[in-house]
This record gives sequence, C-alpha cells and structure tokens, in this order.
Amino acid sequence: MSTDIKKLYGVGTVRAAAYARLGIETVEDLLAHYPRGYEDRGDVRLLSEFEEGKKTSHILVIGTEPKSTRIRGRLSLLKFRAYDESGICEITFFNQEFLRNTFVIGESFRFYGKVETKGGRYSMTSPAYEPIHEGKELPPLLPVYPLTEGLSQKQLAKDMKSAMVLAACWEEEDPLPEEIRRKHRLCPLAYARRNIHLPESFQALATAKKRLIFDEFFTFSLGLSLVGSKTTRAAAPACRRGDIAPLLDQLPYALTGAQQRVIEDIRRDMAKPIAMNRLVVGDVGSGKTVCAAAAILIAVQNGYQAALMAPTEILARQHYADLSALFKPLGISCELLVGALSSAEKKRIHSGLCAEDPTNRIQVVIGTQALLSEGVTFSSPGLMVADEQHRFGVHQRATLAEKNHLSHTLVMSATPIPRSLALSLYGNLEVSNIDEMPPGRQKVDTFVVNEDYRQRLNGFILKQVSEGGQVYVVCPSVETTEEEEADLTLDEIDGEGRLCRKLPLKSAVSYAEQLQTQFPSLSISFLHGKLKPKEKDVIMQRFVSGETDVLVSTTVIEVGVNVPNACLMIVENAERFGLSQLHQLRGRVGRGKRKSYCVLVSEATGDSEKSHDRLQIMRSCYDGYTIAEKDLQMRGPGDFLRNGSGGALRQSGGVRFRLAELCDDSELFQIASEEAKSLITADPSLSASPGLMAQVCQMFSLEEGTLN
Ligand code: ADP
Ligand code: MG
Repeated sequence: MSTDIKKLYGVGTVRAAAYARLGIETVEDLLAHYPRGYEDRGDVRLLSEFEEGKKTSHILVIGTEPKSTRIRGRLSLLKFRAYDESGICEITFFNQEFLRNTFVIGESFRFYGKVETKGGRYSMTSPAYEPIHEGKELPPLLPVYPLTEGLSQKQLAKDMKSAMVLAACWEEEDPLPEEIRRKHRLCPLAYARRNIHLPESFQALATAKKRLIFDEFFTFSLGLSLVGSKTTRAAAPACRRGDIAPLLDQLPYALTGAQQRVIEDIRRDMAKPIAMNRLVVGDVGSGKTVCAAAAILIAVQNGYQAALMAPTEILARQHYADLSALFKPLGISCELLVGALSSAEKKRIHSGLCAEDPTNRIQVVIGTQALLSEGVTFSSPGLMVADEQHRFGVHQRATLAEKNHLSHTLVMSATPIPRSLALSLYGNLEVSNIDEMPPGRQKVDTFVVNEDYRQRLNGFILKQVSEGGQVYVVCPSVETTEEEEADLTLDEIDGEGRLCRKLPLKSAVSYAEQLQTQFPSLSISFLHGKLKPKEKDVIMQRFVSGETDVLVSTTVIEVGVNVPNACLMIVENAERFGLSQLHQLRGRVGRGKRKSYCVLVSEATGDSEKSHDRLQIMRSCYDGYTIAEKDLQMRGPGDFLRNGSGGALRQSGGVRFRLAELCDDSELFQIASEEAKSLITADPSLSASPGLMAQVCQMFSLEEGTLN
C-alpha cells in the first residue's frame, strides 16, 4: 500500500508533484483522498424538466451528424442535435473535433451539464457525456475531488481507478476486529473504500461513509488513550516567584472567582520544573486575556521571556495595545511582531529577543505567526501563549511546540468543549475553565426569524446605524469555483442513504451588494475568506474604528475581535451553523454599553424544520457550555472536529480528519470511543492488533513503534 504514486500507470514527475501538493505520495494516500462531493448523474430528467442554472442529467439520442465549423482560425465548434421525448437539444463542443466520431446517429448518451433555452430550443455547451450500452449500468454518482493546479478531475478519477484495482489485488486485511464490526453493523473496509469513491447507490455511499467515519473516531480514541498514557513531560524553568498584585492593581475591575482559580492553576503549574501544558477554555468575553497577562508576568518576574501568539494581525495589535499598557508601567519591555513590520524593525526585535544581556533583552513579545519564523529565537524562553489556538493550522502548532519545547505552554480557546467530549479528548493537556462571566454583562436579545421579516429586519439595521451603532451580518461561505462544483456534498447524504438537501445559501457577495443598493447612505464593507490577510485587516480595522457601519462577512470574524460599539448581529442561513458557533458569533455584540441584539435568519421548511427548532435554543440559553452540550446531543461531534470556529478538538495533536469533520453523529462517536476504551483496557499496547496500531501512528503522525 505504501507504493510510490509514480508507480501508477500514467503518473509521471509532473503529476506526482501535483499530488505532493495535496499531501499524496503513495497509493494509499491517494485512496484516502476522498471526494468532496458527487455529481448526481443518476437523477435523469427529461429536457423539459431541466432547472435554470443547475446541472442536470439527460439521456438523449443523437439526432444529427456532428458538424464542425472553424471560426477565427484557432477556434472550432462541433455541433449536433440530440433529443428525448420532451424536446430537441443542440449540443456544442469547442475545439474537440475528434469527438465527431463519438456521437453516432441513433445512439444514446447520458449528458450532464447546464441546459439553457433560447427561443424554445434547448442547448448544452460542453456537457459531460457517457455512452449507454445495453446491459451495463452507468454509475449514479460521480465523485468530485479536491484538486490542485496541474490536476484535473478526469486525471484524478482515472488514477483513482488504477489505485483501486491495485488495492483490490492486495486483499488487505480489515484491521477492525470482526466482533466490533458485526456488533455495530459496519461494512468491510474494502467495500467502504470502493464505495466512497464509486458508490453503487446512495445507500452504499451512506454505508461506506459510516464505516470510514467510525474508523476515524475509533482510531482517534485509541490514539488518545495510548498517547495519554505515554507522554513524559519535558523540562521547563521553574517559575517560583509569582506576585501578580502589581498587575491587578492596575485593572479597573476585580477578578472573577473563575479567573482567580485559573490563575492559581497556572501559577502552580509554572512553579514546577516540568513544562506546563494548559488549555484555558472560557466563553467569549469571560476574560481570558488577563489570565494570560498573569502568566506572562510570572515568567518575567522569574527572569524569563514570554510570547503571546494570536491568529490574526488585528487581534495581535489589540492584545499588544491592552497588554503593553499594563506592562510598560511595570518597567517590562513589550514589543509587537507582525508580518507587516519593516525588515529593519523585525531585525531589531529579533536581536532583542535573542540578546544575552538582560538589559537589552525584550521580555514580552506579542505577535502573529511571524513569531514562528526562522529568525525568531529567545535567549531565555519561559512561556508561550497561543490565543484562540484552534485557529492555527497543524503545521503552525507543530512549529510552536518545537520552538518552545523548553518552556511552559498556555493555550486559550473560546470554544467550550462539552465535558463529555473533553474527557475522551485531552490526554495530557490540563484544562481550566472560566465558567463565570464578569459581572454586569448584558444579555443579547436573540430572535429566530424567517424571510417574512426581511423588511422589518432592514428597518432595524437602519435604526441601529442611525442611532450610532454598528452591525455585523454573517453569511455562510459559498465560494466554490465552477470547475470544482459538486451537486451534492458528502454531508448531504444521511445514514439511511437519503438525500437531505440543504437550502440555497445566501451568498455573502450578493447580500453585500443588495444591501448597498437598498441603503446607499450606509457604509457597508465586505469581508471574506479569499482576501489576503492584509486586506482583511484593513477592512476589519475600518470597522473597529467606526468608519464602516455594516460589516458583511463569512465567518472570518469569529476570532476574538472587540468592537464595543457593535450592537446587532445578523446571521443568514443560521441553520447552517452549529449552536456553539452561533454562540461565539453572538458574543461579538453586547460588549459595550449599547443594548444589543442577535437575529438568526432561517427558513423553516421540510428538512430544515428540525434545525429551525434547534435554533430556538439560542433564544433562551446564554451559557456556552450548555449550548455546547446541546449541540453535541443534536448534531454530534462534527462541529467540534471541524477546522472552523468550533474546531477546538483538532488541537489535540495535529490530527487530520478526513470524513469525521462532516459527521454530525454523536452516537457513532460515543460508540467508537467506548469500543476503543474497552479494547485498550483488554490490550493496553495493542499488541494483538498491529493494523490498528499502524492506523493510530498514521493519524497522529507518529513513527511506528513510539507507542509500544
Ligand atoms: P476573552 O475571554 O473573550 O478573551 P477578554 O479577555 O478580551 O475576553 O475580556 C473581555 C472584556 O472583559 C475586556 O474588556 C476585559 O477588560 C473585561 N474583563 C475581563 N475580566 C473582567 C472582570 N473580572 N470584571 C470586569 N471586566 C472584565
Ligand atoms: Mg480573547
């Protein structure tokens, strides 16, 4: 299975390089490159049943001989007509004259693409086509893979087929114990692997998906149990002095009981000569920053340096402004290190960080991933703090761990993880919860509405802005390129193999435009994931400074930005979001004196009725933990595994999930983690299951043998 991808027929150095960009080096890697969606070609329609702007599947008989015409020298057109009982369709291909002999009069093909109508005639341009042969059924679902430059769907699908043929002759053993497989009605691994790529039916796809997700949960749980019992702690400087009174004296408020407890936890950890590895989880606005400040002060008082890393420049700047105001009066040197600095500035900070002489040494540095760049070395590292750390990629987390292997680590996250999950997830990481809000926080009134309220909602936006407030509008991100577009995504197929179609999404782009036309007097800006970090920061900064009234965005704003003047949060297609995610979004408003509101817009129709009910929880519930528990019950762990806002769990060691990210099945997770626990109890080092051990090592990127 670990055969080099280049051994596949037709894969040369160029294509292998493209595969490498996707992290695919072996045939096994390729087989684990799952489709991101499927084209529903089995849903064959009459021409008259086409849908505007949507790709549909049609079985048509070729009616005329293909004719090619040459226009403008280089361009050639191949045109012919094909028909079904409902009409005639003109089909056009560009520069594919060689297809002339493919389409023979009287033969049938399954065409797949967008149908257009002009003057009562149907037409299709460059549709996908498959010949129909008597007695041979065409596959109902065609995989759509994530691609990279230099790799097309066609090539990938072809290579995948050869990989599957190879895999079939290896006849690998199914590493999952037969007993577990039968007990939970899971299909054999070979069946699952075949059907995730080329499903025989919706049902087969659902079965395959269930097995593969189970495996991920199972392997993950096994790994956590194994890693948790093995970790030996690294050494770190013992920070025995810890008088944080000078810091507290400067604060305009008293610490909450929860903050005091967390700081006590940190102080106790840091006093030991073993590296602290602590996660502070606290709801948005619960006051995590001051806990980090206390930890930083403790490191500095003991003669060590401290660094705080934030996921975005704007957040780093905000932290820098807040913390340097606290540290500078105490005579502590504090610098900001972000990518945007001039190279001279960077150099100055780099040399201040590695200065041996304590008088020239920078004691505290706050920054972005720029802190991870090569030039950054600390002469006496004591503490690394990562804020909103689930936002960092696997690679950045690995670099962070490497850079500070001799210091204490504190990570902070706003995503409350349900206790039931946290128990099975954090092997060696200690968790402190800030389970109490600072006093006097206002409650953000929350409403769930449908499209009927659009007019009133618009009026409400106008009212808030005219009173000097600011508004956030969040839309789910919908940016996919035409080429990659899949009709169905894997998460639209439920456990019974049914299709659970999602509602059309309100695109952030069109929403921003629409709003601007409607309210020409408002200053509206638009933030989305495709912007460069610098552009994002500029737009965000304008909102922070009050220059823009309304910020329309995809979920990029979740990270802890503080705009006290923002008083209205509108979430479009709210049913698309996990409750925990919504709770975080809601936490963006109600941070200042203005009475604040959160409006969740969602249509309650058909399949989405359940999710509409789910949203009602937001109206009455304001506690992040309760919301997280409810989310887990209703949607399963998928939200917590995803890389987005809720992806807190991913921080447990650079684990890469492939399918489990899409999984909203908490029962499956529960079953898998229980089975894993009992297997580990029976066989603590998995000596009887080398196949499972290999899977664990692969998932956690560990050398084989490290866990034995
Ligand atoms: P988060 O946990 O989201 O990072 P912050 O640390 O940014 O929260 O704190 C949010 C706000 O609450 C800040 O303006 C901070 O000054 C304030 N704050 C923190 N702790 C307290 C407290 N004990 N009492 C009152 N206000 C507090
Ligand atoms: Mg914060």
